[in-house]
Amino acid sequence: MKKTLLAVAIGTLSFTTHAATLIHAGKVFTGTSDDIQDAMTIVVEDNKIAAITDGYQSADEGDTVVDLKNATVMPGLMDMHVHLSSQHNGPQTYLARYTLNEADLALRAANYAEKTLMAGFTTVRNLGDGYNETVALRNAVDKGLFPGPRIYTAAKSIATTGGHADPSNGMSRSLRPDTGPEDGVVNGVAEAREAVRQRYQDGADVIKITATGGVLSVAKSGQNPQFMDDEVKAIVDTAADYGMTVAVHAHGKEGMKRAIRAGVDSIEHGTYMDEEAIALMKEHGTYYVPTILAGAFVAEKAKIDGYFPDIVRPKAAAIGPLIQETFAKAYQEGVNIAFGTDSGVSAHGDNAQEFALMVEAGMPAAAALRSATVATADLLGVADKLGTLEAGKLADIIAVSGDPLEDITSMEKVSFVMKDGTIYKQP
Ligand SMILES: [Zn+2]
Repeated sequence: MKKTLLAVAIGTLSFTTHAATLIHAGKVFTGTSDDIQDAMTIVVEDNKIAAITDGYQSADEGDTVVDLKNATVMPGLMDMHVHLSSQHNGPQTYLARYTLNEADLALRAANYAEKTLMAGFTTVRNLGDGYNETVALRNAVDKGLFPGPRIYTAAKSIATTGGHADPSNGMSRSLRPDTGPEDGVVNGVAEAREAVRQRYQDGADVIKITATGGVLSVAKSGQNPQFMDDEVKAIVDTAADYGMTVAVHAHGKEGMKRAIRAGVDSIEHGTYMDEEAIALMKEHGTYYVPTILAGAFVAEKAKIDGYFPDIVRPKAAAIGPLIQETFAKAYQEGVNIAFGTDSGVSAHGDNAQEFALMVEAGMPAAAALRSATVATADLLGVADKLGTLEAGKLADIIAVSGDPLEDITSMEKVSFVMKDGTIYKQP
């Protein structure tokens, strides 16, 4: 489409043209309904969707045509739980914190960010890093220094002493660093507030806390509550002052319920979610970010001798297989679900494998797609500019070969990626 501006200058007419990119889409899932529509043209001008029209619109001079007649085109995917600066690598993983520096993590993060984008994920929420390296990553990607998704980062997660994200867990006394609010270790209301304000100063977009034990930390329990009511409330209230949402790692139900009652925005993993927790989430409109893929990954690896430390293995074996069942129950009962994988446990770029696990647990394919587009945009508070294919929205557009409503594993075959109007991958 050519936008012709009529300009009158010194008595003569001059014309200015504006080149567009026309995507000829064989099938389109816009996210505004559960249907797939046939043969449409998506017109992209600059970094926005200018129009979506029926049929294959012909190009004017200067326009670029992208032929996706054999593909299904949809909004860019969004993963609400990734850890871009690391990737689990068996027993080696636990050595990394003694051998890697900030720059090592940052360079790994750049590589994993590109893999994530090429898998069709144009937006991610990074829920925990080591040294704020994903703040630097976000800024570098935004400046166009290298390819990656839009990143909303929590920077370093917040835990309590000995809790799931305490970086000194499992270390001998002589090696153990003196951790405090700056490193994301808090005890009591004052430190909880301080840690949130520190993250604001450090450039975080969201807050992540570890409200219960976790699987991969070098600690005994994967589900004990690790924040008191007043601590989690202090986190939520302070985050609200700075316009930040709160994402909560939780396996055990007691820590989960304290967090939901305090008004957090999302529960991650949610393994031992019971009827009361489900009712509370529905009452408060809390999102559930399942990460079934991470559960499946650790359950599988727990079968291998020596893959995990002895203290981690039984937690991985017990918690991993339960997440898919929890997801099935939460979906049936109508909890808000936003797509998330915990990639960094499983490999970056494999994020879309989560879709098949969701569908296997009883979620219709269209609902799974909406959980990774519409729901995620809502959770991030960016539904006005992302999450659907509609005129006026940012041009984050991907395509897969095949029809994902018929075969959900086609989500693992991404052939086209556009972010902010720029093409990063095409057939
Ligand atoms: Zn995680």
